[in-house]
Order: sequence, then C-alpha cells, then structure tokens
Amino acid sequence: MDELFERFFLEGCEVRKNESMACHTSMKVGGPVKYLVLPNHMYGFERVVKELESTQVPYKIMGLGTNLLVQDGYMDVVVVKTERLTSFEVDGRRVTVESGIALKRLCEICAELGLSGLEFAYGIPGSVGGAVFMNAGAYGREIGEFVESVEVMKEGRTYVVSKSEASFSYRSSVFKHENMIIKRVTFSLKAGERERIRREMREHLLKRLEKQPLDLPSAGSVFKRPRPDFYVGKALEELGLKGFRVGGAQISEKHAGFVVNVGGARFEDVISLIEIAKRKVREVFGVELETEIEIWKNDL
Ligand SMILES: Cc1cc2nc3c(=O)[nH]c(=O)nc-3n(C[C@H](O)[C@H](O)[C@H](O)COP(=O)(O)OP(=O)(O)OC[C@H]3O[C@@H](n4cnc5c(N)ncnc54)[C@H](O)[C@@H]3O)c2cc1C
Repeated sequence: MDELFERFFLEGCEVRKNESMACHTSMKVGGPVKYLVLPNHMYGFERVVKELESTQVPYKIMGLGTNLLVQDGYMDVVVVKTERLTSFEVDGRRVTVESGIALKRLCEICAELGLSGLEFAYGIPGSVGGAVFMNAGAYGREIGEFVESVEVMKEGRTYVVSKSEASFSYRSSVFKHENMIIKRVTFSLKAGERERIRREMREHLLKRLEKQPLDLPSAGSVFKRPRPDFYVGKALEELGLKGFRVGGAQISEKHAGFVVNVGGARFEDVISLIEIAKRKVREVFGVELETEIEIWKNDL
C-alpha cells in the first residue's frame, strides 16, 4: 500500500484504488483512476486537498458525476468525491450546505422549511458544488441567482467569495475559471407556502419525465445553447440525428440534446457523436457548438 493511500485513510477518508469511473458517473462511462477518495467529513476533505496541493499530486474534484464524461483508459489522478459532505445549517431564510449535498435533497429541505427559490432545480441530478461550479439552470432560472456566498479553497487556503465576486453567467462561474474548490454554499431564499413550493417542484419533475430520457444513462444536455434563440436539441432533430448511434452511444430518441448510453457505450463512441453533431451544425447552421459536459481525459 503506498504512503498517499495511508495518509488519506488516516484523515478519515474511504480510499479505493483503481476505481472505475463508470460506477461514479451518470453516463456509466469511464475507466479506472489511481485513487478515488471519499472524505467522510469537511475536515478530512480539507486535509486531503491540502495534501494533494502541497505534494503536487494531480487530482480532480467530483460531486455526483452527472455532468462528466471520463476516458476509458487508466487515469493517473486522485479523484476526490464530495458525496458524503452533506451537512446543512439554517438561519432564518439563509441555508448553508456542504458542497456534496444533492440538489434534490436541498430542494426538499427548503420545501420542508417553507423557503422558496430553488424549486426550478428539483430534478437536476447533481450536487450543490457541481451546480454552483457550472451555474446549473433550468426553466429560465440559474442557481447563481440564489447564492449569497461560497466558501472555497484555492491553493490550499480558504476564502469566502460573495455573489458579486462569483461572476455567474450562463453555465459558468469564477469557480470554474479559477479552479476553486467549493466547500460550502450559503443560499438566500424567500419565505413561501410549503404546498405551493412542493407543487412547483413536482411540476418541474413531471416536465423532466415527459421531455428527458431519464430511463437511460446520460450526462444531461451535452451542448451549451450557443445563443438564447438556438435550441441544440431541435437543430439536431432537424438534421435527422435523433436516434443516430455510434457503438453504445446514441443521440436520444426522446430529446436530441442528450447523448444516452444504450448499452456498453465507450468514451470514444460519445466523442464521435459529439464531433459529428458539431460538424453538421457548423456546416448547416454556421453555428459553433461548445460542450456543456466536462470531459476528463489524460491530456486535457
Ligand atoms: C438527466 C440529467 C438532467 C440534467 N439536467 C440539468 C439541467 O436541467 N440543468 C443543468 O444545469 N444541468 C443539468 N444536468 C447536468 C448536471 O446534473 C448538473 O450540471 C449538476 O449540477 C452537476 O453536478 P455534479 O455534482 O454531478 O457535478 P460533477 O459531474 O461531479 O462535476 C461537474 C464539474 O463540477 C466540478 N465540481 C463538482 N463539485 C465541485 C466542488 N465541490 N468544487 C469545485 N468543483 C466541483 C467537477 O470538478 C466538474 O468539473 C443534468 C444531468 C442529467 C444526467
């Protein structure tokens, strides 16, 4: 057993060697990584990140893996997964959560407390850290609108970033651009009526059930919307790409903005579909698509 493994273990983390990322991503694609580290508490998370920074061991942070496409071959990195960092505190209309808490759970807590704002996010399947990192959004709202401040780590030190410093924009934030690690997020919400909040959450879930291929593994919408009036799913449908398949990856028959894993999809299958979609959209519409999903590959 190597020294790094022992140190993480002694910080109170579960450590798994050569863990397959296919087991940790909603797309069910991805090969083994050197170590997957699962801190059981924030103290362990901080210690692990500091250790990785000071020893300059390559590492990546993940939440619930619902926006990730990971290469099939071995990656010589340590992946730190936040899913066990789920504590929260409530102070009036302010809710502070650790970054690994599922967005769905946060919405349920808010509904229970009669706090309104995040109803739109019910059904986005990631963690709060992942959602704030990429300013997740749906139905015309974005999570950044409800953030008051974010506690982050950068180069081993902790800072508090205010909403105005967070530079939230469409699927982007300062956390993404400056490689900050999100520890905790404080949301500022409004008082609302419990039944109304729950009803709205349920309506959003129903819309997702109706429109999205939730019965198959995916990483959500593959591409960012290049401009507000350009719908990628609709464009791919017009190009006849709905249902188009490479290996085990398919442009969803239900929603062409999603690539689904119909069985045994490989990283390269998904990449080929992305390239084909990009090329066709460029040729026919003159529009350059950019991926919304994060791609983890040795040379990226
Ligand atoms: C069926 C389906 C529907 C979806 N619908 C939507 C939608 O409506 N709107 C939307 O915006 N997205 C949607 N998504 C995408 C995804 O759920 C969100 O982007 C989600 O917020 C990602 O969170 P995560 O914890 O899974 O992040 P991960 O996939 O684990 O990570 C994504 C990125 O965030 C970084 N990250 C994660 N946690 C932290 C942290 N604590 N600190 C720093 N960086 C971190 C990772 O390093 C990575 O770069 C959907 C996905 C699926 C599968």
